[in-house]
Amino acid sequence: MRLSQFHLHTSKETPAEAELASHRLMLKAGMIRKLAAGLYTWSPLGLRVLRKVERVVREEMDAAGAIELLMPTIQPQELWEETGRWEKFGGQLLKIKDRKEAGYCYGPTAEEVITDFARSELSSYKQLPVNFYNIQTKFRDEIRPRFGVMRAREFLMKDAYSFHLTDEDLDREYRNMFDAYCRIFERLGLKYRAVFADTGAIGGSASHEFHVLADSGEDAIAFASGSDYAANVELAEAVSPGQRPDAGEAMRKIDTPTQKTCEEVAALMGIALQRTVKSIAIIGTDADGNEQFVLALVRGDHVVNEIKLAKLPGLGEYRLATEAEIADHLGSEPGFLGPVNPRRPIRVIADRSVATMADFVVGANEAGYHLAGANWGRDLPEPEVADIRNVVEGDPSPDGHGTLGIARGIEVGHVFQLGRRYAEAMKCTVLDENGKAAVPTMGCYGVGVSRIVAAAIEQNFDDNGIRWPETMAPWRVAVCMINPKKDAAVSGAAENLYRELNAAGIETVLDDRGLRPGAMFADIELIGIPHRVVVSERGLAAGTFEYRARDAVESENLDHAALMARLG
Ligand code: ATP
Ligand code: MG
Ligand code: MG
Ligand code: MG
Repeated sequence: MRLSQFHLHTSKETPAEAELASHRLMLKAGMIRKLAAGLYTWSPLGLRVLRKVERVVREEMDAAGAIELLMPTIQPQELWEETGRWEKFGGQLLKIKDRKEAGYCYGPTAEEVITDFARSELSSYKQLPVNFYNIQTKFRDEIRPRFGVMRAREFLMKDAYSFHLTDEDLDREYRNMFDAYCRIFERLGLKYRAVFADTGAIGGSASHEFHVLADSGEDAIAFASGSDYAANVELAEAVSPGQRPDAGEAMRKIDTPTQKTCEEVAALMGIALQRTVKSIAIIGTDADGNEQFVLALVRGDHVVNEIKLAKLPGLGEYRLATEAEIADHLGSEPGFLGPVNPRRPIRVIADRSVATMADFVVGANEAGYHLAGANWGRDLPEPEVADIRNVVEGDPSPDGHGTLGIARGIEVGHVFQLGRRYAEAMKCTVLDENGKAAVPTMGCYGVGVSRIVAAAIEQNFDDNGIRWPETMAPWRVAVCMINPKKDAAVSGAAENLYRELNAAGIETVLDDRGLRPGAMFADIELIGIPHRVVVSERGLAAGTFEYRARDAVESENLDHAALMARLG
């Protein structure tokens, strides 16, 4: 590619709306342009990077034996009604109607669609195990889309769904996908960590998240000093005391006992949540002492099954809502919510007095009380209600190997064992060896393809711009010409080098825009090209090229052979 024939549109201005380095740099480099909240156009430059990520993901999925297909982004309401998720998915589900008033949603995920595909395509155990994947645009009406493509509303996800006759087969494929994910993030050159994650309302027996480590990450992860143990930890932003809304007022705003995500509840209460708080169900009386309220906060996109009692001074009597009461208020059948386990902690410290509703929802605001373990019960002994503590740095690791450290991460992948829940609800069966109908068990495996682009920048940038890992860079090498218009020898030599590198399979861009060296180099650094080669009159006279790696302080003058060896 010649930059003179490409559309590169960098900017010197620092965009005011960008809080994160990745967002700022993607805008400055001209990789993305905002269309509306959470909706971005990927420019030609941005798309090159996105496609690089997509390619690595696709290659590793193929190598792991998954089979690619492509499902629609628009999904019919009836399918979602079969699993009960049309009502239960919450505000992230964008519902639409066609001209005949038939209901659809823009797919936030595709369990229903793939299970529908499976029930018509799969009939025999001989077709199992099988793992289908697609790389497709998803839409989630995030309550606070932010950080550019990091938390967008429309984004690109790789989602895979596997079908198995036996639990052992599912275990095997889960492991296989886990390993494929490790290869994906290694090839992308990212520092990452796989952590135990809670399975939430999706249910199932096992779940891991893959996090790219970055201080700006929205998630906190806990890991042991003396082993590989790592688990995710829910994290909420502390609210400064002055910002806390009045509890009674906040409760009044949440007077419709419909299904709300905690993000929605938080928004109603004027609280900034960084991360979805876990479920809370309370029945209490408001400040006026008459009205009853139920809050059922959901984690992620789903109503979760942990229901918690908490004391809310100023709200009169309180008690744990029963399953049936919650179901009544939410309009969903009790079974969905799962067993009420009053001993299962969320983020509330039950024996502490909580001054306002805001305190309650965001968790205690004191140091050491911001984090709640996601895997209590399995990874940590279940505490007594009065003894709930959140995971903090220095806690003993639940596996007994040293103490816990806390790091920040960006969730870029998530693998789940779903079990038979979806197949059962949608009457998906295959005939087993004995000719009997059997419900397959399922796994699902997601990668946030577009989020990875932003996450990679969070790990790789400096004052001058992006520093792409080699596999993600829009081009590996930039050949820059100094004064090409004045000097035909320079442009000729640069053209030759550019052609030679591309012919050798080294993806190279030629900067033939005729910019001043300073402006040209600033652009090449900003857009993060890993290797820069400058062709100048002086260099040609000395028989050398000026080479500089993106992360090097100094450039070196290399002759042709040395340059090729360096780039090869
Ligand atoms: P998060 O906790 O960040 O909201 P999630 O747990 O809701 O993500 P999953 O349902 O596990 O997301 O989806 C699989 C992957 O899709 C996630 O691991 C993440 O990388 C990506 N993803 C989810 N939501 C978004 C979004 N709004 N913008 C960009 N990528 C997203
Ligand atoms: Mg998540
Ligand atoms: Mg989410
Ligand atoms: Mg997830």
